[in-house]
Amino acid sequence: METFQTKRIKDLLPKIKSILEEDIIPIEKLFLQGKYQELQQELDNIREKVKTNGLWAPHLEEQDGGLGLTLTEFAHISELLGKSPLGHYCFNCQAPDIGNMELLHGHASAVLKDKYFTPLAKGDIRSCFAMTEPELAGSNPVMMNTTAVKDGDDYIINGHKWFTSSADGADFTIVMANTNPDAESKYKRASMIIVPLDNPGYRLIRNIPIMGDTGEGYFTHGEVRFDDCRVPQANLIGDEGEGFTLAQERLGPGRIHHCMRWIGICERAFAMMCKRAVKRELSPGIPLATKQSVQNWIADSRAEINAARFMVLHTAVKIDNEGAKAARIEISTIKFFVANILQKVLDRAIQTHGGLGITDDTVLAYWFRHERAARIYDGPDEVHKAALARRILKDYQ
Ligand SMILES: Cc1cc2nc3c(=O)[nH]c(=O)nc-3n(C[C@H](O)[C@H](O)[C@H](O)COP(=O)(O)OP(=O)(O)OC[C@H]3O[C@@H](n4cnc5c(N)ncnc54)[C@H](O)[C@@H]3O)c2cc1C
Repeated sequence: METFQTKRIKDLLPKIKSILEEDIIPIEKLFLQGKYQELQQELDNIREKVKTNGLWAPHLEEQDGGLGLTLTEFAHISELLGKSPLGHYCFNCQAPDIGNMELLHGHASAVLKDKYFTPLAKGDIRSCFAMTEPELAGSNPVMMNTTAVKDGDDYIINGHKWFTSSADGADFTIVMANTNPDAESKYKRASMIIVPLDNPGYRLIRNIPIMGDTGEGYFTHGEVRFDDCRVPQANLIGDEGEGFTLAQERLGPGRIHHCMRWIGICERAFAMMCKRAVKRELSPGIPLATKQSVQNWIADSRAEINAARFMVLHTAVKIDNEGAKAARIEISTIKFFVANILQKVLDRAIQTHGGLGITDDTVLAYWFRHERAARIYDGPDEVHKAALARRILKDYQ
């Protein structure tokens, strides 16, 4: 999408593309076969190469070891890296670490930054984010049972969380807990607190199986408990009662990252669909591509992916110029719109591949299983649609 590309990003993309195609995509088979130990070795090597090539953590500012890009510039990188499930990790801009880096950078004390942000930015440690609770509707995050009660200079945290992505092997989590349960505004009750995961009051109960796949290490979603988990009050991020505001702030740019990653997935699935359509012959000399249903899938997918990219980049530009708060409606719109296009494009690509599409011999089935979640995490479709409709209807009342 040349119109949204600066010279700087035009120079960067080919360098990133060559690592993606020459190093990352070839090792996907280890990932799809669940050979995690072998995979980690390869990933570590690629991460070193990315550092040596000066491409590390592209979302960070230059003084923090990143590339000092705008959100719109980084969006293009996120699309490119999205073409592999391993792309973002190799460049240290993967969720949930990227969101946590942004949070710590913007709101943590100098001591906390030193202890947690710096090693995270270097890729020496990993992190996770524990907000959602099994017992309460995560789509209404102001409802929360987890508490952090003051005791001397500490907080004592008690609570049960799940879908704490990448908890397995992480070094710390940022946990959302009620510190001010009596605050008049329900938006002012929770705070964000750092918990190092070697704390005896913390426990990873299990890695939750997702559509038949439990994953390992970074590629997991944890169910975790905090039982009388004692941490210093100095581990608070921002101010007490500010957790909900910070969570919203974390999610704004996060939705650009996710949406562009999904567009990257769409582009790869689309290319695979087109290649398969011209190659696979239904009878001698009659490839799949001659069938109108396949042509419709290709035409519809092209139009939808292009539209999605325009919408996301437009939103990124608005966030860059006016801030995430001003772009709340655009953010809601792209979140459900792109998540649904992703499902459609993946489904069509799989249908074009026939039986091969549902095997793990290609990356399509992995994405089909795991990216169904795109319509749920960071706010289910219905929540974003309701926000958009409410905003539109206001003008008619
Ligand atoms: C892959 C994955 C990764 C995740 N990673 C993390 C993480 O790292 N940290 C973390 O804290 N959480 C994480 N989550 C949790 C995620 O944020 C929640 O799943 C999400 O907020 C929805 O909450 P819930 O699952 O409790 O669904 P519920 O709130 O129970 O909602 C169920 C369904 O109800 C419907 N619904 C909800 N609200 C409305 C409404 N207002 N109007 C109409 N219908 C509605 C929707 O269809 C929704 O899917 C992750 C989830 C997934 C799937």
